[in-house]
Parts: sequence; C-alpha cells; structure tokens
Amino acid sequence: MNVIILDGYVDEPTCLGVPPYISPYVRYAAGAALKTAKELCLDLKLLYFTIDQLRSGVGFKEIIKADLLVVICGTAVPGKYLGGTPASSSELARLLSGVERPVKVLGGPAAKFGFGTEGGRRAAAVPEGVFDIVATGDVELVISQLIAERLCVERVAPEEHRESVSQIRNFAIYGAEIVRQHPNFPHIIAELETYRGCARSLVGGCSFCVEPNKGLPDFRPVEDVVDEVAALYKVGVRHFRFGSQPCLFSYMAEGVGELEFPKPNSEALERLYRGIRAVAPKLRTLHMDNANPGTLAAYPEECRRIAKIIVKYHTAGDVVALGVESADPEVVRRNNLKAMPEDCMKAIELLNEVGARRGENGLPELLPGVNFVFGLLGETKKTYELNYEFLREVLERGLLLRRINLRQVMIFPTTRMAKVGDRIMRRHKRLFRSFKRRVREEIDREMLKRVVPRGVVLRDVLTEMHEGKTTFGRQLGTYPLLVGIPGVYELRRFLDVKVVDYGFRSITAVPFPLDVNTAPKETLMALPGVGERRAAAIERKRPFKSVEDFVSAFDDKAVGEKLREYVKVL
Ligand code: SF4
Repeated sequence: MNVIILDGYVDEPTCLGVPPYISPYVRYAAGAALKTAKELCLDLKLLYFTIDQLRSGVGFKEIIKADLLVVICGTAVPGKYLGGTPASSSELARLLSGVERPVKVLGGPAAKFGFGTEGGRRAAAVPEGVFDIVATGDVELVISQLIAERLCVERVAPEEHRESVSQIRNFAIYGAEIVRQHPNFPHIIAELETYRGCARSLVGGCSFCVEPNKGLPDFRPVEDVVDEVAALYKVGVRHFRFGSQPCLFSYMAEGVGELEFPKPNSEALERLYRGIRAVAPKLRTLHMDNANPGTLAAYPEECRRIAKIIVKYHTAGDVVALGVESADPEVVRRNNLKAMPEDCMKAIELLNEVGARRGENGLPELLPGVNFVFGLLGETKKTYELNYEFLREVLERGLLLRRINLRQVMIFPTTRMAKVGDRIMRRHKRLFRSFKRRVREEIDREMLKRVVPRGVVLRDVLTEMHEGKTTFGRQLGTYPLLVGIPGVYELRRFLDVKVVDYGFRSITAVPFPLDVNTAPKETLMALPGVGERRAAAIERKRPFKSVEDFVSAFDDKAVGEKLREYVKVL
C-alpha cells in the first residue's frame, strides 16, 4: 500500500507546524499508518511531502499513483511565515480535484474548524467533493481504521476522537522516522504535545478559542513524552519545543475538572525536563510555548519553582507566550478571559525575575511574550488605550518582553464569537491599524534594544533567504528573532552574528568575528561608524595582515578602535 502524507501545515494557539516546525499531527498520522501496517503484516510505503514541495512540482507524480493521501492542515491563528505558506481551501481544491486514484483524507484543524484565512474574518469551509473523508475527529485514528479496513471508506468513523492519550503513545514513537523526509531535516523543530484541552473548559473557556472543544486536559505520562523524544533524537532531531498545550505550567496540575486554575505540579515538570535531557543529551534546542497568566498569578510560588526548573534544563532564548488577550477589564469579563491585567502584570514580573539573565546563545534565558486579541465582545476605543497603557507600563518598569503579538480575532463556528461574527473587528479596523503601528514604533523597537543590546553576539543563526543584497536568518527556536545580515551569504549555514542595528521587529547584525579581508562591502558598511566611503577604503587597502593593521588603517582612529571587538584577520 502506498501512503502519502501531504503537510499543508498547521498553526493553532496550541500547536505550530509551519517549517522549521513539524507538528505532532503529521508524526502521529505517519505512526498510525506504520504501526497498523506492521500489525497486519502489510507492505506499506510511506512518503511525506510538504505543500511547498508540491507547489514546486515535487511529489505530484507520487500522489496520483498513491493508494491513500492524507492532507494535514489548518491555521486557526494565521500569521506571516518565513519558513513556508500554509495550504488554503481553494488551493487544495485546485491541486487535488483531478486526482482520482488515492483515497483522500483531510485531517488537522482545517477538518475540525475550517480553514483560517486572516484575522478578523470567518474561516473558509472545506472544499466540496475533494476529500473522501474529512476527519473531524482524530486523523490518526481514522488512518489506522482505514488501513485496517483495506481503505474501505464506509467502514471508517471520521468523527472518532481518542478516548485516552494511551492511544497515541505508540503512534508518536513509530511516527518519529517521518521527520527524515522533511525537506528542512535536520534543521527542524519537533513540536511536542504534553496534553490538549483546557482546564477552563469547566467554565466555558474564552469566547474566541477552539481549545475548549477538545475538553478537559488528559495529560500524556512523562514516560510517553520522553520515549517519543528518544525516538526523535535517535533519528536525528536536535531541536524540540513543548508547543502542544495551552499552559505548560499546568502540565499534570492537580484539580482538573474541579478548578478553573488547577494547582501546578513542579515535580512532574522536573521529571519531564530531566527525562528529556537524559535521552537527548546533545539536543540543541529545548523550548516551550504557552502559559496561562492566570495560573502564574494564582500560584506564584509553584510557578516560580517551575520557571527555575525550565531555566535549569532548557536552552536559552526560551519564551513563555502569555495569553493576555486584553488589558480592558470589561473585555476580560465579557469574553470570560483567563486573567485580569493586574494578574498578567504579575506573571510578566515573575518570569522576568527568573529568566531575564542572558544565556549561552546571546538571548535572555526565559522571557514572557504577550498575545493580544482584537475584535472581542465589549471592545471600545478605550480598550485600545488600556492595552497601550499596559504595554507602556511594562516598558517603563524596565521589564522585558520577548514579543508582542497583536492579532484580530478569527471567527470559528464552534466558538461563542461565532454569534458576534466579525462586526466589531470591521468597525475597529482603523483603530487596530493605528494601534499596531504605535506599538511597533514606540514599544517594540525599544524592547528589542533591551532584549538584544547592540554588540550582543547571537549564536547559530541559520541563514534562510536572500532579499536583494541582504541575507535573512533566524536561530532555531521558539519565536526566533529575524536577523538581517547585510551582504549575500551562503544559505542553510549557521553563523554567529553581532548586533549592530534595529528594525521594529528585526535586527541587523554582522557575522562574528568578521573577516575583514573577505567580507562583502555591504557588511563592512553596516559596521558601526563605517558607511559607504570607509567601506570602499577598506576594500582598497585589503588584505590586512592583522587586526592592528586594520585598526590603524582608519582616517579616524577612534572608529578603528571601536571595531576591534567585531573583526578578525585570517
Ligand atoms: S485559557 Fe482561554 S485561550 Fe487559553 S486554551 Fe483555555 S479557552 Fe483557550
């Protein structure tokens, strides 16, 4: 049996699968196919392609000959991505409408909630007549059934949900090997799930969020997550992120189903992190994603302990993405959001206290990021003022934020916002745009200067694309900073770089240490105090015999002296 998984990428509040990330959805789907075939002694060939490969003509001839095609996609929180472009409903209809042979299955958030298009809009529907099965339940179970039933579509229950996390234990382990087929391998980040569902389902959850549809948390045992990491590590994965859960601080928390904010369990997190370090001793990234600010505010001592555990075992540059959503108490109340602004501020303080010191890769160890959502019930002009004041206060108090994410609400039919629709967002479109510009200009840039001051060295920036005579790259990790390196450098190489300047949400940096005898003119021009005229003079005077020789070649000695810490001479 020939099975193909087409990764159209996922992006949910609790799971990212746009390259360099690879989501659990595709790995579990692969594992379900491989494990089921093995149990049935079935000869199965499994191929994996990304939607970007398909766009460039790779994989199509395999797809038309396959027996089963599984498409995984869906962006519930669409953003702009450097690493790939998620598949849209219309694109899949166009690409697959004439493909007859394989049984076609759609899985992932798109099958469950529709295709997110852009913030402030309703999700697009699944294209009609393209898929034989739309897995509104868990796609890995559908695949397993389908293979066991020799692809008989009528015998499969598309809405079947996992009853317990034990069902995915072996799928996760079997599916690890699919990562080798990812075009970015080995430079990929495996998104890890520790649980899904939200403890606040108990009280209805936030008005805009699809997570409560997944019910209350069902935690994966520490051993299951650690064994999955061991399998991924064995096939060559070195970058990991706990991304698939609404609040990592609530992993294995006590009181789920009884408390809106269950009590965090630091002992479980210690076992989890320690276990991963034991099976993946040479991992290069171990990051996390979301946390509920309400939990951090409600249990400061336990959460401080957890933050320290994370800093002990993780890799630097880690971010705790806090769903602040709104600093307007009225909006918080009307949408049943998780935390009042003062609680969010406490969470930001706590994380700064534990995580602000600079780590090995040049970034602070563990910083908060904040997410705001616009277009919610009760939003007024005042909401925008309160949100701005909140961010201004963070800045003025000298606290650090690693990122500020401002997004317009996406309307999904299964949420309470479906009744309201996008009318608030449409009414406030201009307010949103000017607020966003103000935050980018007055807060983001200042924050960036504090998070990565001029002269800081960032380690292992992976070069990803060229735009004109600039090379863009990022460190592999959570919410990586976009680094513009003046000059054209080879792609898919790791460079250490030194920060020289700032955009609103990106930085300019030069390779470190910079070999002044070979550096392109664009890089030389970006060095502090150099510019076009001096860069031309440097080029004329090359080769330099030593750093001393280089420093003394300047018309203004002070400029040369300042550059001593940036350069080398080979
Ligand atoms: S706390 Fe709110 S935003 Fe977070 S997962 Fe639960 S319902 Fe969604």
